[in-house]
Amino acid sequence: MHGFSYKSGSLYCEDVDLSSLADEFGTPLYVYSAGTIVDHYKRLDKALDGVEHEVAYAVKANSNLSVLRLLATQGASFDIVSGGELYRVIKAGGDPAHCTFAGVGKTREEIVYALEQGIYSFNVESEEELRYLNQVAGELGVIAPAAVRVNPNVDAKTHKYISTGKSENKFGVDFEAIADLYERAHRDLRNIKLRGLQMHIGSQLTSITPFVEAVEKVIPLVKQLKESYGIEFWSIGGGIGIIYKDSLKSGSVDWWEAQPEEEKPLTIERYGKELVPRLKGLGLKILLEPGRYIVGNAGVLLTKCLYEKKGSAKTFKIVDAGMNDLIRPALYEGHHEIVPLQEPATADRVKVDVVGPICESGDFFCQDRELPDFQPGETIALMSAGAYGFVMASNYNSRPLPAEVLIEESTVTLIRKRQTMEDLIEGEL
Ligand SMILES: *Cc1c(COP(=O)(O)O)cnc(C)c1O
Repeated sequence: MHGFSYKSGSLYCEDVDLSSLADEFGTPLYVYSAGTIVDHYKRLDKALDGVEHEVAYAVKANSNLSVLRLLATQGASFDIVSGGELYRVIKAGGDPAHCTFAGVGKTREEIVYALEQGIYSFNVESEEELRYLNQVAGELGVIAPAAVRVNPNVDAKTHKYISTGKSENKFGVDFEAIADLYERAHRDLRNIKLRGLQMHIGSQLTSITPFVEAVEKVIPLVKQLKESYGIEFWSIGGGIGIIYKDSLKSGSVDWWEAQPEEEKPLTIERYGKELVPRLKGLGLKILLEPGRYIVGNAGVLLTKCLYEKKGSAKTFKIVDAGMNDLIRPALYEGHHEIVPLQEPATADRVKVDVVGPICESGDFFCQDRELPDFQPGETIALMSAGAYGFVMASNYNSRPLPAEVLIEESTVTLIRKRQTMEDLIEGEL
């Protein structure tokens, strides 16, 4: 569910008409619904009632300071993947003692910074990294809290670039090797406190099955680690999928209720109902690391149609946003529903490619899709663009980064200024 819908023929975010934002701030423009972000956070938190838990928002999905501040006020913890993300969380008022640090390639500078700030746990991805962490902590005369990421070798059945829980992925330590690694670490690594165990099997998972499979497989292991080394937490990762294809309709409760039971997409309530009984009684604090689920459907990218180009084989709608603003279609074959800001008067559709201005053939938002026949001068919304959208934007083709706006009921806040030409060359000689 989310805060975007047509009201009297115009697309709104909460109580704000999106075309007024396009007029005021220009396009391309990212717009986020604060109400949706908070609702998602609270629903997930509630779905885990019955087990001690923390929701550690995966900062990499959307790291705007105002988004982080909003979540910090709700009491969120944070899962970070770089020193830069830790810096952002601290700037936004987040508590380092509720931060976990993931990622396969932490540098010395990042480790030192995170130790100084007193993070909750380093989620370590290899024995080499654990040994290096021990060494750096020793040099600083401190104890580093750590969890190792176990790769449970289950198939998340998602796009190959966002599947992480199989043996052939670069992430984590093989399931079979974990117990020995904890034993060696416990024996040899004097500056490590083994605080937990972590896993994350992939992103955009739309079925409960892989989550359940991974949890059931790892339960005997966490029990053993708790008994032998007194670990206190188990992070079961993020990866909860969202609706992309029917994004607009999925904003309403009615749509969810109308879905036939067998085809019902994974809901957060179902996620909680399946997992809580399995996790309760372990005596461990359960951490979740959701990114996309919290912010994905809470954001859209507004872009204006510049030209219509009718080729012999295809019709192209050329818009002012490009793959530098939103790379998911090019990178992961990601699907974003495309919706005109003015509700189409008829059900007529035309088959088009919506493309950006970048000099790359991969610069498209859809190909051969049936869409309302929007015209040059009209603004459209690329739905479900709140996660892995702006954070992956670049200056490719020397295009200034777009602005970002946060809506809270009828309040509009510009949370990131559009870059200027001067910003583009900042720091260059
Ligand atoms: C990316 C990532 C997440 C968040 O994934 P989502 O699919 O956005 O929920 C959580 N944990 C780790 C370790 C990650 O790398």
